[in-house]
Formats: sequence, C-alpha cells, structure tokens
Amino acid sequence: MSFTLAIVGRPNVGKSTLFNRLVGKRLALVDDTPGVTRDLREGDARLGDLRFIVIDSAGLELAEDDSLQGRMRRLTERAVEEADICLFVVDARVGVTPADEIFADILRRKNANVILAANKAEGSAGEAGALEAWSLGLGEPMQISAEHGLGMDELYHVLRPMA
Ligand code: GDP
Ligand code: MG
Repeated sequence: MSFTLAIVGRPNVGKSTLFNRLVGKRLALVDDTPGVTRDLREGDARLGDLRFIVIDSAGLELAEDDSLQGRMRRLTERAVEEADICLFVVDARVGVTPADEIFADILRRKNANVILAANKAEGSAGEAGALEAWSLGLGEPMQISAEHGLGMDELYHVLRPMA
C-alpha cells in the first residue's frame, strides 16, 4: 500500500514545479501566470525509494469572480479529501498572505494531515518569509526549493513513515 500526497496552496507558490520534480515528467502545467493550473492532476511520484501518488491541486484564487473562487476552493477540498497527507506550500520570498491564511483555515477545518513547506527558500531571500510561516499555526515550516531540489531529503524523512 502506498499513500497519496496532495500539494495545496495559493497560485504561484510553486506547487506544479514540485509536482513535476516528484513525478519527473512535465504532466502539470507550470506558468508564471498565477492560477494557471486549475485542475487536479495526479501522477506517480518517486522520492528516493518512496513511491506514492501525488496530486497537484489548484490554488484558491482570490478572484472577483465568486464562481471561480468557489470552484477552486472545492477543488482544493477535493484534493484534501482524496489525500492521506497534504503538503501546504507557501512562498518563502513573499511571506504569509491573507490567501495563505484562508488555506490554513480550510486545512484545519478539514482536519487534514498537514506538512507545511516554505518554497523558494534557496538563498537568503526566503529566510524571513519561512520564519513567518510559523504564524500559520501548522507547525514547523520545512524550507524547500522545488526549482533547485533543496529540502527533498527532509521531505523524504517526513513522508517515510507514511509508506
Ligand atoms: P503554482 O501556481 O503554485 O503551481 O506555481 P508554479 O509551479 O507554476 O510556479 C510559479 C512560479 O514560481 C514559476 O515562475 C516557477 O518557476 C517559480 N518557482 C517554483 N519553485 C521555485 C523555487 O524553488 N524557487 C524560485 N525562486 N522560484 C520557484
Ligand atoms: Mg500550478
């Protein structure tokens, strides 16, 4: 038996970049335009000797269009329901935003099993933002860089007991 990991978080934090790194194929669409991935994508992930299912979830858009916002919230909730564990990604370079706090509330309300990751933590530009992520009340933020492959060993050790 394996497990399912859902990558959740607001648009543009690097969810699809991490999904692609874990799946090793460019299944998810990565774009500089926030919110470009608006669906759930599933892939077979490998991390060291771990094999699991990963879901790249859409972010919650704080759009004017309520129907879009509602749809993305529902997609996120669906990803949470399908997953054994959620990797909640925030942007270490931006710090905690109101949208991140809405996500934290969704995850808490859903009683999700959450790993918090501050992405884009390569270099020193992410230090303050990564520390700020403690304020979400979801435990210690893991510092990762999906683009540069940093923090993957720590992610491995956190996921290992799930396998
Ligand atoms: P998503 O909307 O959460 O799926 O985010 P994407 O994966 O599409 O990434 C959004 C932007 O952040 C893209 O320009 C990525 O290249 C960039 N990005 C992703 N991961 C990192 C990282 O670890 N470091 C930096 N500096 N940029 C990243
Ligand atoms: Mg995406």
